[in-house]
Amino acid sequence: MKKDQVIALDGPSGSGKSTVAKLVAKQLNLIYIDTGAMFRAVAYALQHTGIDFTKPKLDSHDEQIIQSFFHDHRFQFAAQPGVLVQLDNLNLTDVIREHHVSKLASQISKHKVIRDFLAEWQRSIVQDRPAILDGRDIGTVIFPNAVVKIFLTASAQERAQRRFEELKERGQLEHDFDSILNDIKERDHVDMTREIAPLKKANDGIELDSTGKTVTDMVTFIVNLWNQRKGSL
Ligand code: C5P
Repeated sequence: MKKDQVIALDGPSGSGKSTVAKLVAKQLNLIYIDTGAMFRAVAYALQHTGIDFTKPKLDSHDEQIIQSFFHDHRFQFAAQPGVLVQLDNLNLTDVIREHHVSKLASQISKHKVIRDFLAEWQRSIVQDRPAILDGRDIGTVIFPNAVVKIFLTASAQERAQRRFEELKERGQLEHDFDSILNDIKERDHVDMTREIAPLKKANDGIELDSTGKTVTDMVTFIVNLWNQRKGSL
């Protein structure tokens, strides 16, 4: 079967995916797609619809509202320098990092109507170009024929610490460490137990535990794997 020229980098929140993905993309000259940012953008956009995304299933009326929102608005990923995601003319790059958007993104992402939209959006950005995508279901659902599939992990404690530092750096620290840790655990639970596209390692994926490893170690590992396997494409 033909492999896609894609590196699928999946793993839970805060495992270091985006840091690693950006550096790998730079070294290998690949397109980098932060799919979490895309889920966050959709969550941000849909927050004012009044739909309760925490319920297990959306009804057809909810789905209609969502479909017509998708029809009437345009989301774009990295369409211009410095703008990671945009909704119509609105730059969402900073607002999607707010704490409440993380929570909302995790809630909306269990619904099929939303995952279907996101799947199409992700594949349409890649087309046939070599790319690295970080997310939750890249190796299992979006690009099951990716040439390299990595599942990046780290302990919840370590991931919460990283998120804490990141929010502090952005001046968005409105929560204490424990509440960030609890949120990470809750999001892990929601992501791993959802019916559609749950967070899990692909059968043919490689697990990489980032605890105690340097970013350079991880980047080198992935770059080498790509260089070895690319020849077989
Ligand atoms: O990676 P990030 O923390 O930015 O993602 C935000 C949320 O979006 C995750 O908690 C997850 O629920 C959802 N997500 C997803 N599938 C992806 C990327 C993100 O379900 N490929």
